[in-house]
Amino acid sequence: MRRADMLQRLDGHHQSWDIVVIGGGATGVGIAVDAASRGYDVLLLEQHDFGKGTSSRSTKLVHGGVRYLEQGNVALVMEALKERGLLRQNAPHLVSNLAFVVPNYDWWEAPFYGLGLKIYNALAGKYGFGASEILTREETLARLPTIKTDGLRGGVVYYDGQFDDARLLVNLAETAVDQGATLLNYVRVVAITKGADGFIDGVVATDQETGQQWTVRARVVVNAAGAFSDSVRRLAEPDAATLIAPSQGIHLVFDSAFLSAESAIMVPHTSDGRVMFAIPWHGHTLVGTTDTPIATPTLEPRPLAEEIEFILETAGRYLHKAPTREDILSVFAGIRPLVKSGDGKLTAALSRDHTIHFDASGLLTTTGGKWTTYRNMAEHTVDQAADFVGLAERPCATRTLNVHGFHTTADRFGALGIYGSDALGIQDLMRSTPALAARLHSRLPYTAAEVIWATRHEMARTVEDVLARRTRALFLNARAAQAMAPEVANLMATELGWDAARQANEVSAFSTLAEGYQV
Ligand SMILES: Cc1cc2nc3c(=O)[nH]c(=O)nc-3n(C[C@H](O)[C@H](O)[C@H](O)COP(=O)(O)OP(=O)(O)OC[C@H]3O[C@@H](n4cnc5c(N)ncnc54)[C@H](O)[C@@H]3O)c2cc1C
Repeated sequence: MRRADMLQRLDGHHQSWDIVVIGGGATGVGIAVDAASRGYDVLLLEQHDFGKGTSSRSTKLVHGGVRYLEQGNVALVMEALKERGLLRQNAPHLVSNLAFVVPNYDWWEAPFYGLGLKIYNALAGKYGFGASEILTREETLARLPTIKTDGLRGGVVYYDGQFDDARLLVNLAETAVDQGATLLNYVRVVAITKGADGFIDGVVATDQETGQQWTVRARVVVNAAGAFSDSVRRLAEPDAATLIAPSQGIHLVFDSAFLSAESAIMVPHTSDGRVMFAIPWHGHTLVGTTDTPIATPTLEPRPLAEEIEFILETAGRYLHKAPTREDILSVFAGIRPLVKSGDGKLTAALSRDHTIHFDASGLLTTTGGKWTTYRNMAEHTVDQAADFVGLAERPCATRTLNVHGFHTTADRFGALGIYGSDALGIQDLMRSTPALAARLHSRLPYTAAEVIWATRHEMARTVEDVLARRTRALFLNARAAQAMAPEVANLMATELGWDAARQANEVSAFSTLAEGYQV
């Protein structure tokens, strides 16, 4: 996947695209995979890097949503559990089965959660990840050695999926390209064009690197801009009513010693009535999340002091050693694009979880849902888009489409297992230049070879792209990521022909960004 090739495809494409997608998060890239694998001619434009928005900032769970079950939303849970199973089938190198323990401190919790989680597993049917079980106090402690012991009665264990969101996104972008789609990062849609009949017929887009501008024609334009969906809708209809109610969620990352386990903790009811997780992730402990309504979405949302305090306080209630601000290695925030209900007759809510909305000018907006259900959302969206503009009917192919990197025994690649079959290419780089096998920081597993790989094959364009999304250094340990930046810039400079000034700018921009991930 090379940006120069993508630009060439765009420049050489003179007829109308079947589908132009705005937004390179899970929703947009999922739509590009679906549309391209049906044989449609599709272009996707992302204003920043793939996954810069919410799609790199999730809790990293591929799950049915135990919380929805409690709310009685059985159909939604079944749909997500099926998608969870399909994702593990199609991207086994990225989705792993994780045990979650609900620690019990009250007598009623074991029977209550025991039954609920049995139903959760039963709803998955053939897509099940493992039967839930009631645990004794000793079994709970064996699984969660760092859990608070005062009053602990036992626990319930159940199974769900875990993944690396940004890595899955990069692999999905590669899948879309493998299927013939054209995807560009750092190209922002700045206007939406209309034909004489008043219907949308294309977009105007600007390359954020060079300023080059294109006017591209499209049979249908799909808005997959997540929390920014309303601003994109207003490019077409300045008076469009608000559809999105943005809400922020943050996560804190600590050393692995805080959990010291293979299992995750699931707290079904925090003091504000939410679910909270403490999860082992890439050798660290990830704790989250919150739900704070915000006025205006931004690409770099800032965690609020009270959100940080709330997570520390909740974690402290369950963990033997309560984490403090000094223990935070990284803090990151993401924005949920929640959809306001009851917005007019043109909204075709195909599922209670996601929304497909048509504006009068023919712009199709897909939003809501969750990472786990991206494939299903994409299938519905492409069905609707094709039907709307009369594209030749072609069946969805993604239920059994392998995601780029597909590998069933990727564990054998050790720390590179996350790359699936691409690990072989990275190992080749290390073999031909052994110095590239060296770690860039003693506290993180990432090597110089991965920087070269990301720059050559994964369209990484900045130091941030490499440290935040191609690797997860920024999300795991912001200070370590900051320390890695000069070496990453040096490696990228050779690959991309940066001069000394650009290299220095990259380091300084990343350093400023990384400050925001520290407390
Ligand atoms: C805190 C939190 C935790 C979550 N945890 C989970 C979880 O564990 N499991 C799960 O399944 N789901 C989870 N989710 C939900 C999931 O992350 C989101 O549903 C999903 O990432 C949304 O993807 P998206 O593509 O719609 O939006 P985004 O990822 O935000 O993508 C939209 C993109 O559009 C781009 N864009 C905007 N305007 C333009 C323009 N004019 N031109 C070009 N591009 C533009 C943006 O730059 C952005 O990259 C979580 C969400 C949050 C907030």
